[in-house]
Amino acid sequence: MRTEAQKQSRRKYLATPKGKAMAARSWAKYRKTEKWRIANQRAQKKHAQTLQGRVNHVRQVQRYNQRHPDRYRARIAVTNALAQGKLTRKPCEICGELKTQAHHEDYSRPLDVRWRCFEHHLNEHNKRKVAHADFF
Ligand SMILES: [Zn+2]
Ligand SMILES: [Zn+2]
Repeated sequence: MRTEAQKQSRRKYLATPKGKAMAARSWAKYRKTEKWRIANQRAQKKHAQTLQGRVNHVRQVQRYNQRHPDRYRARIAVTNALAQGKLTRKPCEICGELKTQAHHEDYSRPLDVRWRCFEHHLNEHNKRKVAHADFF
């Protein structure tokens, strides 16, 4: 337990340039830890559940769809084809994971898809250096 006096002197120290530099260093160190990663993830998740977080997410998706109308159309075509039974969701072709996403080799052939789990879908896009993957 710290006493009030100790807390106060620490606060004074942190206000000095030397103290600030020390705080910045320990913050940078903390940011590299697993503990920070988990805490940060939790904070982001919490933010996503707030109204502002949800609005931001919807806006991001809308902007993405406007920038990539071909991808948007391809995704809609897959959703419709799945609903109409013209297309069947399959396990990941690489690892067999059942939860999969449709990956398009060519967006102009919307029903020509590869089934990939989240991880292998990401791999597919990283491989080809596509900045914004169609995670849908
Ligand atoms: Zn997989
Ligand atoms: Zn894809």
